[in-house]
Amino acid sequence: MDSSFLEKIFISQFGAINPPWIHKDVFYKLPFNFCDRWCKRCKLSNICRVYQKEIESEKKFIKQGIDPKSTKAMFLSMTKSFEETKKLLEKDMKKMKIKIIEDDDKKFEIEENKKDNLVKNDHLTQVSKKLAISLVKLVEDLHYYFLEETQKEIKEPLRILNYYMYFFSVKIQRAILSDIEEKEMKYEDTTFDSKNSAFLSFISIIKIINSLKTISNFKNLHRKINLEILNLISLFENLNFVLKERFDLEY
Ligand code: SF4
Repeated sequence: MDSSFLEKIFISQFGAINPPWIHKDVFYKLPFNFCDRWCKRCKLSNICRVYQKEIESEKKFIKQGIDPKSTKAMFLSMTKSFEETKKLLEKDMKKMKIKIIEDDDKKFEIEENKKDNLVKNDHLTQVSKKLAISLVKLVEDLHYYFLEETQKEIKEPLRILNYYMYFFSVKIQRAILSDIEEKEMKYEDTTFDSKNSAFLSFISIIKIINSLKTISNFKNLHRKINLEILNLISLFENLNFVLKERFDLEY
């Protein structure tokens, strides 16, 4: 199928998006592994376990008089989730008779630092971070520029830019890290997280480009801002080209 046709489909999809190489059964069972967490726009929120759990915990926080959007609520949820994960891990380790000694901890930390440095020094990470900074700056300029009255046709692309301005770079870094880790695994044990993360970043970049194009077409836009936008569009197009090549995102 023509890739530009598929790119047009992806533009209108938010939340969970099925990578073409992931079987539909897997996707519908675990949609939260293939999503951008924009739950309010996700068509699968009615079947998503992560979303349902989040709603339940929001209700609990409200009952306890805690604002579910507060930092306190965030830390309480994180603590609970870490505790649950720890319990599950301990149970599995006991079953598999695995014991962790202090030396293992140190070794693990050294290995993790090594991987973090590899990700940090990767050219793609550096480019994506720089692009994220440029995009944040542009979005700030646009908010300032349209301060008086944000036109209806500008609101939606601005919302999209706001949502994805860090997302694409975070997902790229995750893709690079997973790629390093997958090389240490047996092929049958991998979940193709590198490719899936790169795919989500790729789709978010399509939306960023599309939003930038819509804003660029706005008739009263200042010439200097428009030049900035056109420059960013071309940089994002290059980034997507590199992502597609490096992570083999053929569809
Ligand atoms: S509802 Fe679930 S799958 Fe959809 S965006 Fe939210 S977490 Fe992801």
